[in-house]
Amino acid sequence: MAPPSERPEKIWTGTAVSAGVAHAVVHVLKDHFDEPDDDSIEPGTEEHEMHRLHAALQATRVEIEDLQRMMGGEQGSAESEIFETHLLILQDTTILKQTEKAVREKQVCVDWAYYKLMCKHMDALRGLSDAYLRERFLDIKDVTHRVMRHLRGELLEHPMFDEPVIVVAHDLTPSDTVQIDRSKVLGFAVETGSAVSHAAIIARSLAIPAVVKLHGICDELHSGDTVLLDGEGGNLILNPTAETLSRYRSREEQAERREDVFQLERHEPALTKCGSAICVGANAEFVEEVGIVQDSGAEEVGLFRTEFLHLENPDASEDELAAAYGQVVRSLAPKRVVFRTLDLGGDKVDERLAVEPEPNPFLGWRGIRLSLGRLDLFKRQIRALLRAATHGRAGIMFPMVSGVQEVIEAKAILNECAEELAAEGVDVPDEIEIGAMIEIPSAALSADLIAAEVDFLSLGTNDLIQYTIAVDRLNDRVAALYQPTHPAVLRLIGMSVTAARGAGIRIGMCGEMASDLRLTPLMIGLGLNELSVATTQIARVKHAVRRLSVLECEDLARAAQKCTSPAEILALSRAVADRCYPELFE
Ligand code: PEP
Ligand code: MG
Repeated sequence: MAPPSERPEKIWTGTAVSAGVAHAVVHVLKDHFDEPDDDSIEPGTEEHEMHRLHAALQATRVEIEDLQRMMGGEQGSAESEIFETHLLILQDTTILKQTEKAVREKQVCVDWAYYKLMCKHMDALRGLSDAYLRERFLDIKDVTHRVMRHLRGELLEHPMFDEPVIVVAHDLTPSDTVQIDRSKVLGFAVETGSAVSHAAIIARSLAIPAVVKLHGICDELHSGDTVLLDGEGGNLILNPTAETLSRYRSREEQAERREDVFQLERHEPALTKCGSAICVGANAEFVEEVGIVQDSGAEEVGLFRTEFLHLENPDASEDELAAAYGQVVRSLAPKRVVFRTLDLGGDKVDERLAVEPEPNPFLGWRGIRLSLGRLDLFKRQIRALLRAATHGRAGIMFPMVSGVQEVIEAKAILNECAEELAAEGVDVPDEIEIGAMIEIPSAALSADLIAAEVDFLSLGTNDLIQYTIAVDRLNDRVAALYQPTHPAVLRLIGMSVTAARGAGIRIGMCGEMASDLRLTPLMIGLGLNELSVATTQIARVKHAVRRLSVLECEDLARAAQKCTSPAEILALSRAVADRCYPELFE
């Protein structure tokens, strides 16, 4: 841990989205790319300009070779080929000659000359339907950005850190989170985002503190600065004094003592006062989380977001995927692991699949739509999941379902994969549980049709809320309208529960709403008996469940369904929570 600072303290306050306190140096991720200006140069400085370019190309080459070594791709493997391509682009003599020509003839700085030339190449490839050429566009873009950063003397974002750091970013996308070395990340401090942004969700899964809406930090903080990140109070403190550090240390000790009490019974089942079992599961994203999940007291993994593994290695083969999924299933057996098939799109963008920007990605080609449009990807994943399922107990769940037809289509592909595997003599499970996520209002409104086709439903409230109220879950400006207890959201949950009961299948919730201890009485009252939550919340949710009775919760739900405002509904549920487990809110 860094020593206290003698430089003046400065505090930013944002929104705390993942608990805990971290004290360390920061690493600032620069996420935007500023285009160079067409600055003219002094006559006679052309040589100097070209020398700058050669130095930048050399530094980029070293960097790419380092990355190639780090990824450990074998020669001829897909990863290795990507880097080989990048090195070829970097060493292209025609590009060099043309850049030099532009510098000499137009008397412009080399940054502009090189950038404009590379843009011309990118423009020629942009939007082509040929998948191979589309990928070359991304390769050129990647190399160009690296070279430009070296030309400007900017520190390139290095995904590997030498020491533990707090990551500071304007906007931490899911692709950023898969690229950084998570074993060295002690916390996230982000300028934008919300409690349901994926950076916040991942911080909770990894049990590290995170604060969002810390406006202006990227301009003021520099990599190497020492900060204290307070994931309870939402503060980021630059240069914390000895006094601040000692205040936080004693607060942390107190919090740990309190937490220990809740953690004692985390491995026991969660039975309500009247004896009803509520299955409390965990949400997870990475293979490395299995240890945290085991230790958390989770009874299952109710949601494994597979798109993060995909973003980490988009070219993973079926064998590699089967090995990764299999490791999760085996390590957690006999617990059930529900794998959600790729939910790419929205904010979880694989640039190779989405070369043409969509005007409205959250209403675009995402989730099951993308999978059904890219059967190569979908079948590879389903085959890998079926193979992994033989190592223990797994379920497969489809994301962003808008109607039953998509479920029928996806199931047909799944059956096709199972038959193909069996014909190839590969072991597949006799049966596998299939589920659908209810996270689009049309799915909730037709939940009875969907329920007839699946073994379980899972409410993805992060999206269900944004689509029901038409409020972007990531947009700061409309954050106040993002209300989980909106009467319309409650009605959609109620309809989904009724549909599941009618079909005699299970229904749970895996959106962040399930982690909100103020709403646990309402969720139980609405008839949910499976809650899949962040690992850090498992012990607390179980503690809450044990202090509630189903009848009392059902009374509350009935009263809530008559309310007209989100605040009223929240207050009703909070009142029950306050009465039954005030200790969780201290
Ligand atoms: C949800 O929408 O509630 C959900 C669990 O999926 P994600 O947060 O990954 O969109
Ligand atoms: Mg979702």
